[in-house]
Amino acid sequence: MDNIIPEFSIVIPVYNEQENIPELYKRLTEVMDTLCTSRELSINYYEIIMVDDGSTDGSWEIIKKLHYDDKRVKGINFSRNFGHHIAITAGLDYIKGNTVILMDGDLQDPPEEIPKLYQKFQEGYDLVYGIRQKRNDSLFKILTSKFFWWILRKFSGVEMPKDQTMLRVLSKRLVESIKQMRENARFIHGMMAWVGFNSANVEIRHNPRTKGKSKYNLPKMFKLAFHAVTSFSAIPLKLASYLGFSSSFLSFLIGLYFLYKKIFFNIPVPGYASIIVSVFFVGGIQLLVLGIMGEYIGRTYQEVQRRPLYIIKESFIEE
Ligand code: UDP
Ligand code: MG
Repeated sequence: MDNIIPEFSIVIPVYNEQENIPELYKRLTEVMDTLCTSRELSINYYEIIMVDDGSTDGSWEIIKKLHYDDKRVKGINFSRNFGHHIAITAGLDYIKGNTVILMDGDLQDPPEEIPKLYQKFQEGYDLVYGIRQKRNDSLFKILTSKFFWWILRKFSGVEMPKDQTMLRVLSKRLVESIKQMRENARFIHGMMAWVGFNSANVEIRHNPRTKGKSKYNLPKMFKLAFHAVTSFSAIPLKLASYLGFSSSFLSFLIGLYFLYKKIFFNIPVPGYASIIVSVFFVGGIQLLVLGIMGEYIGRTYQEVQRRPLYIIKESFIEE
């Protein structure tokens, strides 16, 4: 196995998915064995790279055991939780195959859909997205996710297909270009759209999560949305200047109006309330703008530190 270069590399980020990994392994290897045999490849022509993103349950033990029994399974174990998109990055850093399949470890996107995506991929695309036909999640998840994607598609400045899942097939050259992007604040969906190349969409089924919980809570989603918008556009900074410009223009007009009333009709300008309101209004805008600038400066600081994206505690993977 060691000297065979696999044709397929499957990258799976895993965070506390001990209930899902055994079934995932079983279903995925069945699909991949069939896919390889149908192309007259040996069933050794794929590798499964599971990246354990600092799980606190038994996920890593299960991955170790799988690797022990089946050397096609490789594992990377982080020293702590670094986040979904960083776990994906680590997996992509170690792929050997020419065709890369990316999927989540919670079985919401069924592995049985891979052949469909691969068939499309063979038409010559560098990226084939699995697109959800119908989302099987809680109403809260659907609404927050809809809002999140609305913001992203509107403000991130990169074109991203709607309803995309993590299940996708990528060419090696696309992965190589992603590997060159080493920014800390990672938003994989945006990065994959940013590098260009030809892509296609294929509709796939989406299942409810049967085991384990969603790892994306509201703060995590906010963090990702923020990374996403700030790493692909400076629109929030522009928003600051628009706000500044419009509020000064507005106050200029109001000032003119008061002046006009005072000069021509000698009507005294009513004081306290309007002053307080405008003080708070302007103060609020200033703080908002400062905050936005601060966030960008914070981001810049984080990037110039050039820390490694992740720390590996243990791994079963050849360099
Ligand atoms: N995940 C991860 N690190 C995290 C959060 C999630 O590696 O910090 C993994 C998780 O195990 C799963 C995938 O990323 O395989 C997607 O997470 P999840 O299903 O919780 O997200 P959702 O589908 O609810 O958006
Ligand atoms: Mg999920």
